[in-house]
Amino acid sequence: MSTERVLVLNAGSSSLKYQLLQPDSGAVLAKGLVEQIGEPSGGRHRHTAGGKDHESTGGLVDMPAALAAVGAAFDQHGPDLSAEPPIAVGHRVVHGGTRFQSTTRIDAVVLDTLRALNPLAPLHNPANIAGIEAALELFPQVPQFAIFDTAFHATLPPAAYTYAVPRAWESEHGVRRYGFHGTSHQYVSERVTALIGRPDLATVVLHLGNGCSACAVLDGRSVDTSMGMTPLEGLVMGTRCGDIDPAIPFHLARTAGLGIGELDTALNKQSGLLGLTGDNDFRAVVTRAAAGDAAARAAIDIVTLRLVKYVGAYAAGMGRLDAIAFTGGIGEHNPALRAAVLERLALFGIEIDSAANESAEGETRLTTPGSRVTAYVIPTNEELQIARECTTALRPSAGD
Ligand code: ADP
Repeated sequence: MSTERVLVLNAGSSSLKYQLLQPDSGAVLAKGLVEQIGEPSGGRHRHTAGGKDHESTGGLVDMPAALAAVGAAFDQHGPDLSAEPPIAVGHRVVHGGTRFQSTTRIDAVVLDTLRALNPLAPLHNPANIAGIEAALELFPQVPQFAIFDTAFHATLPPAAYTYAVPRAWESEHGVRRYGFHGTSHQYVSERVTALIGRPDLATVVLHLGNGCSACAVLDGRSVDTSMGMTPLEGLVMGTRCGDIDPAIPFHLARTAGLGIGELDTALNKQSGLLGLTGDNDFRAVVTRAAAGDAAARAAIDIVTLRLVKYVGAYAAGMGRLDAIAFTGGIGEHNPALRAAVLERLALFGIEIDSAANESAEGETRLTTPGSRVTAYVIPTNEELQIARECTTALRPSAGD
């Protein structure tokens, strides 16, 4: 088995997550997190290698400083990247628009095109680009690739990606559904295919983390997904509202005098679980609900109903339903929510294996052998998917 290594980078507005891994085996050789980049605290850095954590603080003023700290941590604590450089650096990029529909090798032209997409994802893409620029400086000899959260959804049919708004908005302003979490939806749906042993499946993947999205996957291709032109649409999330009546912002502008910036912040950062309960962390909401907190209980009901409606709609859209997969922090770790969703989908002939659901650890089947739909927990692994995308793109047969 090859020992080639890929460095995967996920640069956010004030954080940088990374992993050095072997795409073949999936072995993680090192990983780390730089947080509070550019904040008055000076930032924090945790580098984990060889089973040991190495923590440091301060000096993380911007993304180049963060990347330099990552390089220094590899020098100091290993693995030694100068002796054996990674074969590629894979960057998670949130929005590829319609221009980037697959993994793309990064060069100056690609970077310029990416910058032009910033208006489509103003909260995410500029940070991703800062990570790419810093990594190009640090690893000038290593091929670097952009792996887009939108790419898996390039197969959406027009009926799923077109909004019923004036036609010209799409060509002039890029107004259409793009979908996100594509790397995760692809990884998880491919695992479902492998576990069931058949490619011709109608699967709904529920990625439930801080951001949440559902994806309808038919015969391995994304045919519908709940996030839209931006990650705001769809399911109830940690701080995002998901689906609302689009006239609500107009109403609030008129009656409460809220401006565009305030509405943007309110719907992206102060809504969802946080808006409903004051807590954006699902664990805290579950704890409060168990203690009888009415707002927390109501929030879980709202989250559940939205999920059930999406699964039902996607089953109808695909014409059948073979599998449901739960992933993300909430999907992987909250048996009560999974049970609540699956119980309400009994009309599809779903029979839950309650013991399996309660004790699920790693990839687990949640339904009985007789269940007409098979449900799973599949821990997502976006870093591995990104690393594998890089090795596929590096193969001589892969066109750029
Ligand atoms: P991100 O979307 O940032 O990658 P995660 O996938 O880690 O985030 O998901 C974070 C969410 O998962 C939080 O709402 C957190 O409360 C929830 N979560 C993590 N562990 C558990 C758990 N054991 N039980 C319930 N929820 C959990």
